[in-house]
Parts: sequence; structure tokens; C-alpha cells
Amino acid sequence: MLFIGMLPYYRDEPPDLSKPGDPHGLIAPFARRDYYRAAVDRLKAIRDRIFKNSGLKKKNVRIFCNSRIPEKLLAAAAGCGVYGKNGLIMTRKTGSLCILAGIIMDHPLHLGGTQKPGTIIRPEKAEKKLKESGFPLCGSCTRCIEVCPTGAITAPAVINRKLCLQSLATVQEELGMPVMQTWGYMIYGCQICQEVCPLNSTPVIGISNTTGVLGPSISLRELLSLSRDSLSKRIQGTVLDRTWIDPLVLYRNALIAAGNRGRKYLTPLVTPYLGHEQSWIRSAARYAAEKLR
Ligand code: SF4
Ligand code: SF4
Repeated sequence: MLFIGMLPYYRDEPPDLSKPGDPHGLIAPFARRDYYRAAVDRLKAIRDRIFKNSGLKKKNVRIFCNSRIPEKLLAAAAGCGVYGKNGLIMTRKTGSLCILAGIIMDHPLHLGGTQKPGTIIRPEKAEKKLKESGFPLCGSCTRCIEVCPTGAITAPAVINRKLCLQSLATVQEELGMPVMQTWGYMIYGCQICQEVCPLNSTPVIGISNTTGVLGPSISLRELLSLSRDSLSKRIQGTVLDRTWIDPLVLYRNALIAAGNRGRKYLTPLVTPYLGHEQSWIRSAARYAAEKLR
């Protein structure tokens, strides 16, 4: 049995808390709070009710959210939405501005979804059904493809991760000049392809949860001054506190953002990183120092 849920994230807040003399690096809306953890907590409550009513045990049930399970494919197969050309699942109410999470169990159990227990479902069939029901679709729109600053959407729903800023934000490597020039002020999370999407234009009431709050932006002065240990503490319990995100990438991202902010007074914060032990951080520091000259 598969149960999929969508948690819309909160967007009704200023996107940049920079102040005069204190420019910030930006955090995309989906990462400003830990919606993944909030979704898992909600699913745990559902799982406990399932345990109570069905006699199933932990080994029969798996909760997934931001996992290696092909969540988008499962969401499409479950009839929750269709793939948009931006490669994300478009749901009827929230567009792509939501976190997907779900429960899989090895027993049939009907919780009132669109499929009968035991039905074998295929994404293409589910998509066809949704299309026939008048579900909002991309149609001839190509805005996300056109607006992506790095050309990462190489065909409808095909994303080249080596070009996508969202993916590059967590990889520990030197970024090329064209990428750094299009980086903007980001510390974590590119959502440009979602912001321009007409299917995302209807305001949805997102969940302003208090789990792992990072906020819309972080002071570049603050971030670049933090020691490695202090940085780990600063991001503890947030979306950035993940085993696959080395806090070092945040220095690299902040350096590029500082360069692109172009405020000369940030130079003393950038200079120490010119001698950093990691070459990919030194490279970002050189870029920033050059831009601030
Ligand atoms: S997240 Fe940013 S870089 Fe990646 S596909 Fe969307 S717009 Fe392009
Ligand atoms: S911007 Fe247009 S093409 Fe891209 S996902 Fe949205 S509706 Fe589809």
C-alpha cells in the first residue's frame, strides 16, 4: 500500500532580510524551515494510527521523504500530480511548491485514496487519467526552460544536475565562471524555474512550521565569520543539517554571493578564504575578491 502526502511550504515572508551594510545570502522557500522533518512527524502520527488499527508492525511500514525512493514517480503513479517540464510533480492545489512524503507498507490497506487496494498502478496511466479530468498541465508553456539561468532543463522534465544550481549548491567542487556569474546571492536553494511557473501562481496556505527555522536569508558577514564548529551549530536541526551537505559548501556559496553582492566592505571577510585548504573554496574566494575589487 502506498500513501503519499504533500506539505505546501510557506512563502508569505520577505525573501531577503539584508540591511544597509549587512547584505545577506538567500535561502529558497522550501529550505527556510525543515518541512521534511515536519512531514515525517505528521506521517509518524498516521503510521501510529495504522499500527493501532491494523496490527501491523514497524517492519511492515516505511516512511519516506527526501529519500532515495523515487518519490516523484510514486506520486505520479498514485495520481497525486503530473510531471511538469521543470521536472517536478505538479499537484492540483499547490503546483510544485510542496514537499512530497509518503508511507509504503507491505499490506493492502485502503485509506480512502483514488486507487482500490491491490491495484497495480503505472505513472503513465495515472497521468492519462488526470489529464482527462482537466488537471492543470504545462501545455505549450516553456517558461521554466527559458528562464533557467544555466540551461539546466535540457528537455521537458529532463534536468542536467551538473548544470542545475540547486544540485551544485551541495557539491564539493570548483564551480566554473559562468555558474558563479549566474549564481546570484544564493546560499542554498534555486527555485527560479518554480517562481515563474503559472501553475504555481495561485497562493496556497503553506505550513509555517517552527521546525528547523533558517529564515529567508543569512547575513554574509555572520556566515563568513563563523568557525567550522560554530557553522555546524548554526545549521543544526535545519534542512542544511544533512549528512550529504558538508557545511564547507556554505562558505563557498556565501563567497560567491558576497562577490555578486559587489560590496567592497565585504573584502576583509573574503580574504582569509584565499588561503583555504580546499582548492574549490579558494577558487570561490578568488572570484569574490576579484568582483569586490
Ligand atoms: S533549480 Fe534553478 S538551475 Fe535548477 S533547473 Fe530550476 S532554475 Fe534551473
Ligand atoms: S513554467 Fe510552464 S512549462 Fe514549466 S512547469 Fe510551469 S507550466 Fe510547465
